[in-house]
Amino acid sequence: MSNGQTQSDVILIGAGIMSATLGSLLKELAPEWKFTVFEKLPKAGEESSNEWNNAGTGHAALCELNYTIEKPDGSVDISKAGNINEQFLVSRQFWSYLVKSGLLRNPQNFIMPLPHMSYVHGEQNVEFLKKRYEALSGNPLFQGMEFSDDPGKLKEWVPLMMKGRTFNEPVAATKIESGTDVNFGALTRMLFDHLKNHNVDIHYNHSVKSMKRTSDGLWQLKVKNQESGTVERHTAKFVFVGAGGGSLHLLQKSGIPEGKHIGGFPVSGLFMVCNNPEIVEQHHAKVYGKASVGAPPMSVPHLDTRYIDNKKSLLFGPFAGFSPKFLKTSSMFDLITSVKPHNLLTMLAAGAKEMSLTKYLIQQLMLSKEQRIEELREFIPNAKMDDWDLVVAGQRVQVIKDTAHGGKGTLQFGTEVVSAEDGSIAALLGASPGASTAVSVMLEVMNKCFPQHIRAWEPKIKEMIPSYGVSLLENPELIQEIHTSTGQTLGLNSELNLRQYTSH
Ligand SMILES: Cc1cc2nc3c(=O)[nH]c(=O)nc-3n(C[C@H](O)[C@H](O)[C@H](O)COP(=O)(O)OP(=O)(O)OC[C@H]3O[C@@H](n4cnc5c(N)ncnc54)[C@H](O)[C@@H]3O)c2cc1C
Repeated sequence: MSNGQTQSDVILIGAGIMSATLGSLLKELAPEWKFTVFEKLPKAGEESSNEWNNAGTGHAALCELNYTIEKPDGSVDISKAGNINEQFLVSRQFWSYLVKSGLLRNPQNFIMPLPHMSYVHGEQNVEFLKKRYEALSGNPLFQGMEFSDDPGKLKEWVPLMMKGRTFNEPVAATKIESGTDVNFGALTRMLFDHLKNHNVDIHYNHSVKSMKRTSDGLWQLKVKNQESGTVERHTAKFVFVGAGGGSLHLLQKSGIPEGKHIGGFPVSGLFMVCNNPEIVEQHHAKVYGKASVGAPPMSVPHLDTRYIDNKKSLLFGPFAGFSPKFLKTSSMFDLITSVKPHNLLTMLAAGAKEMSLTKYLIQQLMLSKEQRIEELREFIPNAKMDDWDLVVAGQRVQVIKDTAHGGKGTLQFGTEVVSAEDGSIAALLGASPGASTAVSVMLEVMNKCFPQHIRAWEPKIKEMIPSYGVSLLENPELIQEIHTSTGQTLGLNSELNLRQYTSH
C-alpha cells in the first residue's frame, strides 16, 4: 500500500493472540465487515504471544497455587480458580469450533495434553496443598485431581524431581491429567493465516503512531509504513488496541477519559531451557511450585515440558526482572514516557508502595547463572549447569490504577479491558492469566463495544461456544460434555499426538 487511506469497519492494532481471537470471533459473526490489521513487526505472534516468550500453560487453575487463596480461618477460597477454569473451557470450545469448521487444522500444532501438577515442600505448605486439593477435588471442574505425600508415588509421577532428593522434610504434590501445553505463538500465526484467507487485510511492518476522532465519529489512525517510510491515514468505526505492552501508550494517545489515571509497570522474564535430550525425556508434566516470600504472583517457579518447534523441550522459570521497556522490541523510554500529568500521582503512589517489589525484581535481575541453577535444584536436585541455557521471555506490563480496595497507585495482576463509553474503541491492558483466557476477554470486549449486535449474534456465539451465558458450575453435566467433545476435536484425549514429538 502507498500512502493510501482505507476505511474499515474494524481495525485491530497488533498481531498477537488477542487481536487474532477478536478478529476470528467477529469474522464469524459479521463476515461482511471489512477488517484491517496493523502490526509493527514483520510477522504475527512475535511479542508476548510467541512460544518462547510465555510459558505456554493452558491456565485452568489446575496447578497454579496463586489462584487459590488461604483465608484467615484456614479454609481455601477456590472461587478465582473456578472462574479461570471456566474461562479456559470457553477458549477450548472456540478453538474446537474452528477446528471442526475446518478453519484451523492440526490442533496438535498448538495444543497438547500434559499433566498439570503442584509441588511443595515443608510442613505448612504440604498442609495447604492438602486443603487445596480437598477443596478442589469435590468440584466438578477439577475432577480427576490426585494428591500424594508419599515419596514412592512422587517418584512415579516426577522421577527427575525425586532423583537425588533427601527427604528431610515433608513433600507433596497434586496431579491432574487434563492439563494442556498451548503453543500460543503457533495458534496466533494459524489464526492470522485463517483471517488472511478470509479477506482480512493484514499489514506487517506498519506501526500505529497516534489516533484521533474525526468529526463524523470515526477513528483516524496515523500509521507509519516502516518499509517505505511513508505515513498513512486509515479510518475505522471500531478500533481494538491489542498492542500488548504497546497498548497503554496508544490508549493515552486516543485521549479517551477512560484511559486516564492508569499507569503500567513492566516486569521482564527469563527462562532456563534444557539442552540435554536425555534429561528432557525424564520429565512429562507442568509442575508449579510456590512463589518465594515477596515475589509477585507471575514469578511462581515451574518446571515445564513444552512442545515447541516440533520438539519436546524442558523449561524452568520464569525468573522475573526489571526493564523499563514495555515490549521486548520497544524503547528504554517506555516507562518514563508513559507518565503523564493525569497518572503522575497514581504512578508516584505505586512507586512508594511497591519499593520492595522493585527491589525484588532488581535482585532477580542480578542473579548469576549459578544462583539460578540453585533455584532449579529445588526442582531437580541433580541439575547441572552445562545442561541449561538462558532465554529471554516476554515483557509483562502490569496495570497500575487507583482502586477503592487498594487505594491510589495499586498494582493489578489481571487483565483489564478499557473501552470508550460509546464502544468505539477498546484496549487490553495487563497480562494474566493472559492468552489462555483470550476468548472470554474478547467476549467481554464485544459485550462492551457491540451491545447493539449481541442479541442478534447470540445464536452463533452459542453454536461456537455452547456454554456461553451458562454457569458451568451450576450445570456439571455440561462440564463433562465439553471436556469430552473439545478433547476429541483438539486431540487431547489421545496419546497419539505425542508420537510426532521427539526431544532431539
Ligand atoms: C514470561 C511470560 C509468561 C507467560 N505465560 C503465560 C502462560 O503460561 N499462559 C498464558 O495463557 N499466558 C501467559 N502469558 C501471557 C500471554 O503471553 C499474554 O497475555 C498474551 O500473549 C498477550 O497477547 P497480546 O495479543 O495482548 O500481546 P502480544 O502478543 O504482545 O501482541 C501485541 C502485538 O502488538 C504489536 N504492537 C505493539 N505496538 C504496536 C503499534 N504501535 N503498532 C502496531 N503494532 C504494535 C506488537 O509488535 C505485538 O506483535 C505470559 C507472558 C509472559 C511475558
